[in-house]
Amino acid sequence: MDWTQAFWVKSDNMNELLENLFANRIQYHVPMSRFTASRVGGPAEALIVVRNVEELSDAIQKVWELEIPYALIGGGSNVLVSDDGVDGLVIINRAKEVRFDLSPDKPSVWAESGANFGVISRQAASHGLSGLEWGVGIPGTVGGAVVGNAGAHGGDVSESLVLAEILHRDGTKETWSPEKLRYRYRSSLLKRHPGKSIVLSATFGLTWSTLGAVQEQVDEFIHYRQKTQPPGASMGSMFKNPVGDYAGRLIEAAGLKGTVVGDAMISDLHGNFFVNRGNASAMDIHRLIELARTKVEEMFGVHLELEIEYIGNWNKVLDLGR
Ligand SMILES: Cc1cc2nc3c(=O)[nH]c(=O)nc-3n(C[C@H](O)[C@H](O)[C@H](O)COP(=O)(O)OP(=O)(O)OC[C@H]3O[C@@H](n4cnc5c(N)ncnc54)[C@H](O)[C@@H]3O)c2cc1C
Repeated sequence: MDWTQAFWVKSDNMNELLENLFANRIQYHVPMSRFTASRVGGPAEALIVVRNVEELSDAIQKVWELEIPYALIGGGSNVLVSDDGVDGLVIINRAKEVRFDLSPDKPSVWAESGANFGVISRQAASHGLSGLEWGVGIPGTVGGAVVGNAGAHGGDVSESLVLAEILHRDGTKETWSPEKLRYRYRSSLLKRHPGKSIVLSATFGLTWSTLGAVQEQVDEFIHYRQKTQPPGASMGSMFKNPVGDYAGRLIEAAGLKGTVVGDAMISDLHGNFFVNRGNASAMDIHRLIELARTKVEEMFGVHLELEIEYIGNWNKVLDLGR
């Protein structure tokens, strides 16, 4: 047992322990609404922002070793954080280094897991490199995209990823191929076994095209998003599309577009987007989720599976075992 573990056992005082581990980089009771795309979420008991892969590895290994409760957040664009906040340490991943390999035969891009996926897609386009056009407009990080197999416009991470560098709870690092990540629709082995491993960085394969051709495709995808998806604070698609159908279509057919609870609304433009109109609570959004699920199940016999993830202290209000 090292000094930190001894300290943990003796004092049972998380704040003191965290200060000893991370010195003055820790902040307390920070509203998570500052770090989520939906702009909702109560306070993180403690929070640290990591700015490179070394800081990320160091922070996660400490919380794993000492069994401190934690949540790792990238762009916060696929999570619904409870109004009651998050216990333990929230690690905000801002490890953002990006390097393009512009070799003539096998171009690629390597990025730290906190880099913004949509930005990388645009950067690739600006080099005349094709392969990530589908990712333009995805507001999350590379880590979130690799774990959740993010995708759009017929493309997804499983098709573009070459390798991901993975750190495991036992301290080992491995380089995983897409096959090893066992991708499914918006899911991966890491997503199905949370808390065991994290993504440190990833490399995506690209091919040379012309600036004009790639830019045209990117512009078309951006235009399509602007036409079909609401602006403002949301989590993107709330539910996965059921086989052979669309969650948005079912929610619309259930007559729920435009439904409001508190300051949250099922978008009147896209039934699968739930928008924070300014002062929504996580509970408002949760109530809309329950309403949509119940109505769609009653009317069409289809169970909508969440694409987003509940984070934080939901136990008081939810039976998550459902
Ligand atoms: C307006 C809007 C449009 C969107 N459009 C799309 C779309 O077209 N296609 C799509 O697929 N999604 C879309 N999304 C959803 C979201 O952007 C993606 O799912 C994104 O990949 C999530 O990344 P993130 O960094 O925000 O993850 P977060 O929300 O921060 O985290 C999600 C999960 O991933 C885990 N995680 C994050 N980083 C790591 C890491 N480095 N290692 C291990 N686990 C990690 C977290 O712990 C959490 O469990 C959209 C969201 C919004 C708000």
